[in-house]
Amino acid sequence: MPRRRYRTHSLRKTHVRTPGGRLVVHYEKRKKGIPKCAICKKPLAGTVRDPRDVPKSKKHPNRPYGGYLCAECLHRELTLAIIEKYSTA
Ligand SMILES: [Zn+2]
Repeated sequence: MPRRRYRTHSLRKTHVRTPGGRLVVHYEKRKKGIPKCAICKKPLAGTVRDPRDVPKSKKHPNRPYGGYLCAECLHRELTLAIIEKYSTA
């Protein structure tokens, strides 16, 4: 049984051959997924996979829904929302 802190699915096991010829298990963090647009699922530009060591200004685009919707989907949705708002008046 591995140590308590290694008993988690957020770590992946890799097998490493030591210089002495033994096969030992190493635990490493899983790769995070690429941020994708919530509507069209395209990979988002201007975002990072792992935001821990990156300054805040580089984590996602500085606009409403930045890092959640791509620019085209945001433009389309805003346009539709404005048309819908003023069509009844
Ligand atoms: Zn999109």
